[in-house]
Amino acid sequence: MNIRFDGKRALVTGAGKGIGRDLAKKLVECGAETYALSRTQSDLDSLQIECPGIHAVQCDLSDCTALKASVQSCGDIDLLVNNAAVALLEPFLEVKEEFFDKTFDINVKAPLMVSQIVARGMVDRKNGGSIVNISSQASTIGIENHTSYCMSKAALDQLTRNMSLELGPHNIRVNAVNPTVVNTEMGKVGWSDPAKANPMKKMIPLGRFAEVEDVVSVILFLLSDQAGMVTGSCLPIDGGCLGS
Ligand code: NDP
Repeated sequence: MNIRFDGKRALVTGAGKGIGRDLAKKLVECGAETYALSRTQSDLDSLQIECPGIHAVQCDLSDCTALKASVQSCGDIDLLVNNAAVALLEPFLEVKEEFFDKTFDINVKAPLMVSQIVARGMVDRKNGGSIVNISSQASTIGIENHTSYCMSKAALDQLTRNMSLELGPHNIRVNAVNPTVVNTEMGKVGWSDPAKANPMKKMIPLGRFAEVEDVVSVILFLLSDQAGMVTGSCLPIDGGCLGS
């Protein structure tokens, strides 16, 4: 599949590490003028060395004022990926208000607000656009110690459906991807212990966790015109876990 984004401007949140970082680099390779937004400046500095030409935007998305200023500073955006998230693990009986609020601020409120700013510009320019929200298989199944995270991803799936409904008439497509465990820093925090990982892998017919490139390739497809009739979908990238 030869995907090109020449002439397009892309914004990826959480582009300092993991999926977001590799995705931002791929978008540059595919010709998009790419804005990489993330929290830790040193991640952005190393990304700029690896990928000259990428625009680095340092922002903590839990700060609404900073979020608005940072996203507006990127200018017109045609392709948006809401990827930044946190996974703060704790048993249900010990869920703390502070962790719950932080999870929802970053995983739900930030995608809503970033998308509003970007989509208003898309609507005004009457040129369409594509938005992908990075959700998780955790949106549809219960996972031990993941209450706030699972709830936040379920909310993100629903945000995706509502956005696709209201933005479709403006030729703006909005989709989510729902990966199983991916081998990134976040994935390792929850799943590096074989005692936890092995039962989860047994639930996956393909028998393995996802690699970053398994996820990036699907996001690129959904962003591209090759997915021109796809909107409102929450697409599992889970080796068959949810379907089996
Ligand atoms: P990582 O933890 O490896 O990377 C997340 C990135 O998001 C980091 O660069 C982080 O920056 C950034 N980020 C987090 N909070 C903020 C914030 N408040 N403001 C700005 N940037 C922020 O995660 P992954 O690459 O693994 O995950 C990417 C997406 O994929 C997430 O939405 C996640 O929920 C989803 N996902 C991941 C799975 C997995 O197993 N890894 C499975 C299913 C879905 P910093 O480090 O500086 O905080």
